[in-house]
Amino acid sequence: MRWEELTGDRFAEAVDECGGVCAIPLSVVERHGRHLPMGTDTYLGRETLTRAAALEPVIEFPDYIFTQIPEARHRAGTISIDGDLMVKLLDNVCREIARNGCKKIVLVNAHGGNQGLVTLFNMLQLYSPRDYVVYLVQPFMVVFSGDVDVPWPIESEGHAGPGETSMIMTTRPDLVHMDQHVAEEGAALGRLSALQDAGVHTGISWYSDFPTHYSGDAALADAEAGDRLLDAMAQSVVRALRAIKADTTARPLQDEFFASSERPV
Ligand SMILES: [Zn+2]
Repeated sequence: MRWEELTGDRFAEAVDECGGVCAIPLSVVERHGRHLPMGTDTYLGRETLTRAAALEPVIEFPDYIFTQIPEARHRAGTISIDGDLMVKLLDNVCREIARNGCKKIVLVNAHGGNQGLVTLFNMLQLYSPRDYVVYLVQPFMVVFSGDVDVPWPIESEGHAGPGETSMIMTTRPDLVHMDQHVAEEGAALGRLSALQDAGVHTGISWYSDFPTHYSGDAALADAEAGDRLLDAMAQSVVRALRAIKADTTARPLQDEFFASSERPV
């Protein structure tokens, strides 16, 4: 049930019907090569959640695009919010969701570059007592798992690669521009390979390899495979939602932790 489609009168009832679970599709607006829309993650996060919600009722939060993307600030159209504000805003949004009665909040991460933000955000939940629990699921991992039947080798996968391209082909084919696609731009430039080979990363590592924000080989994309990937991602969210609805342990553990962290032993 999409939050913004409910009437105010119906809202509390809908929260009950969904077991007090609200899912936020986290995405970002960033370049996806020359062939995909900047809102690729937003479309795919929404589509995944819509398919999941059809199988397991959940309050669907509106599209949430203010997440981590400093590495694309050099490309037109990127919306890159300050780091401290990203954390504060997401925390504020979670508190608003809880204030409205959803005490189980699920971050459905649809942007691969969010690892730093979502991992830190999870840990930040442990600083002060709260009457809700934040859960994190990352359905896009399915794309890199090799578990779904797709007509391309896993090595050709990447950002704006065949997986994302196939999934946009099946949800918004009008926004795919394969005539603009430049295959050579999907190859890593390796400009910091000496550091990377030694296990060293820097903030500029992604840019050093992929300044056009494209990796992989999107020419292998296939709309039917995109549909299968979206179904598999939705299934992974459904499994998570069912486990979260059944969960009666995380919240008491959190309460126990907060109480004992007041008097550490
Ligand atoms: Zn993407």
